[in-house]
Amino acid sequence: MAFTVYNSLTRTLEPFTTLEPGKVRMYNCGPTVYGRAHIGNMRAYLFADTLRRWLEYQGYDVKQVMNITDVGHLLDDADEGEDKIEAQAKKEKRDPWEISRGWTELFFADLAKLGCKPAFVYPKASEHVPEMLEMIDGLIAKGFAYQVGGDVYFEVEKFPAYGKLSGNKVEELDAGARIAVREEKKNPADFALWKSDPQHLMKWTSRFGPDGFPGWHIECSAMSRKHLGEQLDIHTGGEDNLFPHHECEIAQTEAFTGRAFSRYWMHAKFLQVDGGKMSKRLGNCYSIDDVVAKGFAPRQLRYCLIRGHYRTPLNFTWDILKESAAALANLDDLAARLRRMQTGVDASASSDDGLDDVARCKAKFESGMNEDLNVPKAIAALNELRGLALEKRLGASAAAAAFQFLRKANEVLGCIQMEEELLPADIEQEIAARQDARKRKDFKESDRIRDTLLAQGIVLEDTPSGVVWKRKS
Ligand SMILES: [Zn+2]
Repeated sequence: MAFTVYNSLTRTLEPFTTLEPGKVRMYNCGPTVYGRAHIGNMRAYLFADTLRRWLEYQGYDVKQVMNITDVGHLLDDADEGEDKIEAQAKKEKRDPWEISRGWTELFFADLAKLGCKPAFVYPKASEHVPEMLEMIDGLIAKGFAYQVGGDVYFEVEKFPAYGKLSGNKVEELDAGARIAVREEKKNPADFALWKSDPQHLMKWTSRFGPDGFPGWHIECSAMSRKHLGEQLDIHTGGEDNLFPHHECEIAQTEAFTGRAFSRYWMHAKFLQVDGGKMSKRLGNCYSIDDVVAKGFAPRQLRYCLIRGHYRTPLNFTWDILKESAAALANLDDLAARLRRMQTGVDASASSDDGLDDVARCKAKFESGMNEDLNVPKAIAALNELRGLALEKRLGASAAAAAFQFLRKANEVLGCIQMEEELLPADIEQEIAARQDARKRKDFKESDRIRDTLLAQGIVLEDTPSGVVWKRKS
């Protein structure tokens, strides 16, 4: 079965095809760097990473671009309110550039901890102002935008397709404008491409005046065009990006280029915490550091955040994270078992036993991922494989094939411990001492050593072929 994705633009599942054979141009809306990314933000970036990995599994050459918004994102996501970064700078009495630089570095560190593959480029908005001004000039020249004093607005009525992504209609936005209407706009739904404000700290001189800065939406239109060209295969974001951000990106880019912008729009649903919204007030905007402080590894968080379907709201609690960690430990255990079984240990008598079952699990994994990234189904296939291993129904060749497949599957999931971990020498010695005690039938001593190791998080399992160990989950 071919890869099928849910396209927010058409609201249907569609077969995935690319503009250019074998190549995928993908743009992910990245963070506005005024604070630490929380695990809810990370869900959207992990979705993008999983999508990229699944495309690569299929052999596509993926050019992934994720922007960094370091200027121009206002508090209400549209034309009003303070710049998020400047507001934070005032609060901390620091320079806004310093704020955005610091959080950008931490964002990259967080992505790395979660095992996200680095994007081809992470363009910064502040470094693409000439490209934005070029598009703004073009939109004015083509009659899609107008200047009022030092501000420039996109005129939504000139672009009849406005609303095609979100389903919003200009007339309705007009009637129910939630923001106090700026009188200088021709239509309340018009949105800013460029704004002027002498108080703004991060500002540029242009033909519109000395104190200007870009609107958030034009940033992504200009950066995607610069790094990926006029047409993309996939554009992603969190569900909160759909409107107004992505709707406005479509209007600007398509008005400017006269061509369809992105073939597929994909949006990850929010993460809930304790069944509700994450909020600073409730103190539940956890970062990776909070998760690590509770004794979890980043890869356990990664598994927890990718194991649900990206279009289903996902709930996070500490108990759910604990369950995820245990489920991931089972997959680590599968890798360890397959490593052993491929040498014949604990394997079924005939080497080819179970080859068909391994092929079936692989097909199930792939068909799950092909169904719009149905990760739960894909993981279920791996657990089925573990069932076969536990029942010793795989021969050595089948186990080797299964291990090879698991390694490939983990290139998509990115969190299973595939290789044997080397133990510190003192623990190796303890295990050897326990083996000696058992030979001497000194079970009191062997139990004592076993308990000491357990206290250090090492679980021993006695098998017919000797002792095996694993880390306590
Ligand atoms: Zn964006």
